Amino acid sequence: MTTRRSAKDKIIIFDTTLRDGEQSPGASLNHREKMELAHQLAKMKVDVIEAGFPIASPDDFNAVKAIAETIKGPAICGLARCIDKDIERCGEAVAPAGKSRIHVFLATSAIHRQFKLKKARSEILKQAVASIKYARTFCDDIEFSPEDASRTEPDFLAEMVEAAIDAGAGTINIPDTVGYSIPSEFGSVIARLYDDVPNINDAIISVHCHNDLGLSVSNSLAAVQNGARQVECTINGLGERAGNAALEEVVMALRTRSDQFGKLWTGVKTEKIYQASRMVSSLTGMQVQRNKAIVGANAFAHEAGIHQDGVLKNRETYEIMRPEDIGLEAVELVLGKHSGRHAFRHRLKKMGIDLTAEELEVSYKNFIALADKKKNIYDDDLVMLAREGMESSMPAYVLDYLHVATGTSTVPTATVRLIKGDEVIQDASCGDGPVDAALKTIERITGLNGKLLDFSLQAVTIGKDAMGEVSLRVGFGSDVISAKAASTDIVEAAAKAYLACSNRLLIKQGK
Ligand SMILES: [Zn+2]
Repeated sequence: MTTRRSAKDKIIIFDTTLRDGEQSPGASLNHREKMELAHQLAKMKVDVIEAGFPIASPDDFNAVKAIAETIKGPAICGLARCIDKDIERCGEAVAPAGKSRIHVFLATSAIHRQFKLKKARSEILKQAVASIKYARTFCDDIEFSPEDASRTEPDFLAEMVEAAIDAGAGTINIPDTVGYSIPSEFGSVIARLYDDVPNINDAIISVHCHNDLGLSVSNSLAAVQNGARQVECTINGLGERAGNAALEEVVMALRTRSDQFGKLWTGVKTEKIYQASRMVSSLTGMQVQRNKAIVGANAFAHEAGIHQDGVLKNRETYEIMRPEDIGLEAVELVLGKHSGRHAFRHRLKKMGIDLTAEELEVSYKNFIALADKKKNIYDDDLVMLAREGMESSMPAYVLDYLHVATGTSTVPTATVRLIKGDEVIQDASCGDGPVDAALKTIERITGLNGKLLDFSLQAVTIGKDAMGEVSLRVGFGSDVISAKAASTDIVEAAAKAYLACSNRLLIKQGK
């Protein structure tokens, strides 16, 4: 695009996949996975990365700090309640960043004031102002969120926003915390602030919309049309409950409908979107629905003959975006059977994945084995291989051997050998089917009995020899854990995914 872009028309993309997204049930990421994702977000040129909630746990603190130390480009932001201890911890975590931001929040709606905080309007106002001022002693860039803003009385919200800006908040974020608004209504919440808050032009207005009614992206765009200049969003719309506004949908809507959004623009490199989406689903184990806008497997697939015919004659007959705009066509053949260790490592590095020598050895060994079974190895295959390499260095069970006997007149029976450190454990068991037999045998060895909540199978890449990717959600008592694994054999993929869930549980329990 050659149209002139001015800073005042820029929509700041604030990615909160690592904070709000990571909070969604079953989506937790370990330290390295967080780093990997942060690298991808920086490559995609988001403006702000909300890296975590430092006071929540030492792990959260360390991840935010490590991201602040290593990631260049985006501002690195941490979340804090309006509590001194939170702000101190957050300030310390984000301090190493080139650009750092502290995001403080406090609920302002009547229902939250009365039942959660048990405080009057005036006390809430005082607490927020004091916290913003305190946060400013750590960092110049402060964002303030009146939590549940969309259900806050308009006069109090305006009063709060004015006071927050006066206290030194450069960004005011208006969240639709419970995903209750509809677009016309949410747009007028923003418009009203521009009418009622005298110092509003001293701050950037941001929005953070949840998707409980499926309106998060629509609400965000309505806000943008009424003056908001920052949108908080997540890859694949990950987030608490029904999730957040999906980054890819917000960015592509602004770009594709520039006729409606005028000069508004984002700095996001859209060609990185598809890779980011795949990374998030593979790291969290949370699958993207096939018909999901922009990044779903069917988003650019034309099945109907009449559509295909139209697309072949002129793509614009049925295509409003091009697959290459989100990097879909860049999913290329990268490596084959004859690629050496060096090329393998180099490609992983380019994808932002750094392995230790031992992990590299395991991944490379599996790569060679895979290349024997399958002609073309794609980026997505590599991510899977790298994941296996990383898991091999954790205090975890590794699948060493799996044999399943099954057939119409055979009782499905599995023999499994697992390695954990120096231990080699073997067992066998039968089940209702080959997958059931394999999982039961794993449970006999690990002693961890889970309940399969979700099982889905998808092809990782294209072609008949594609790896099958199994995504599982397993409940171990009150812990719900998701994981994915891939193999050209789907029983093996299921066994590996189940083992990955068991390993994640052990890591979570610190065993
Ligand atoms: Zn949220």
